[in-house]
Amino acid sequence: MNEELHNDFGHGKNTYPPSKGVPGLPEFEFNSAVGRETKRLLEGIMTTYEAQPFNGNDVPLRTRTNFYNARYARNKKAIGISDHANANGKKSVRGFGVFYWHSSSEAKKLAQIILDEYKKEFPDREKYPIWGDGLFASEPGEWTDLHMCRETKGIFVLVEWEFMTNPESYKLLKSDDYRKRCALVKARSACRWYGIPFDKPAAKPAAKPAPKPKEEDDMLEKAIVVFGMDDFPAAKRLAKKIKAPIYVRDGLPAGRLAKEVYVVGGDEKGLKGDKFVILSGSDLFETSNAVGEFLKK
Ligand SMILES: [Zn+2]
Repeated sequence: MNEELHNDFGHGKNTYPPSKGVPGLPEFEFNSAVGRETKRLLEGIMTTYEAQPFNGNDVPLRTRTNFYNARYARNKKAIGISDHANANGKKSVRGFGVFYWHSSSEAKKLAQIILDEYKKEFPDREKYPIWGDGLFASEPGEWTDLHMCRETKGIFVLVEWEFMTNPESYKLLKSDDYRKRCALVKARSACRWYGIPFDKPAAKPAAKPAPKPKEEDDMLEKAIVVFGMDDFPAAKRLAKKIKAPIYVRDGLPAGRLAKEVYVVGGDEKGLKGDKFVILSGSDLFETSNAVGEFLKK
């Protein structure tokens, strides 16, 4: 099997703060969700490689492109797609766009396929606008001069799926539905590139083995669940006070977590416990405030 996708997604969990994200939405959170789902969708169809771990710290650009180039040296048929979420000082700016290296007609072709698949998956242009005409030639010395397009030896494109800085697209980027459908676009595009069928059903969660019930004795009294790494500083203050461990929502063990679950960021949906204390707001700052108020009690 020669079909191979370099399933790249920008940034690591340590890149926001200070950069690469907006309050409540670290860019990495969106990018890695798309990458993870793409890998799942392509299982058994083609090999995928990730230079950036799904829940890891940032791997430098140079390390990532070296990794993909080493893969490319072994398989000249490999293609690469890097996921990103965009930002702009002007809040009104939004839409979807793909970057390809200016001199690569192959990369341009791949970019066109992804744009086309995006338009098919999201036909409502008002809700899902295209940024400019959706295609950007990455050129040396210009604002479009992207490392990922320039330094990769294979056919490689970079997708800016939407803008984090626009209120409407912020909601999209936060939503599970949009993340899964972006992955669907990515997976379909890779299959179309190779001319192989993509016939998996859309975005079904992977079947999990039934959780084993925990013994009542080793059940924790209290636990804290954070929505993302952003909520960690607030959760740490809480942990000190109530003496409970902190869990990240993404990596929870199966089964009931604790008798009393403190939710820092987000709601109790999907969590298992007897009693919930919700300390959340609509963004990172409000969440931090909610914890502060609770600690005052
Ligand atoms: Zn990015």
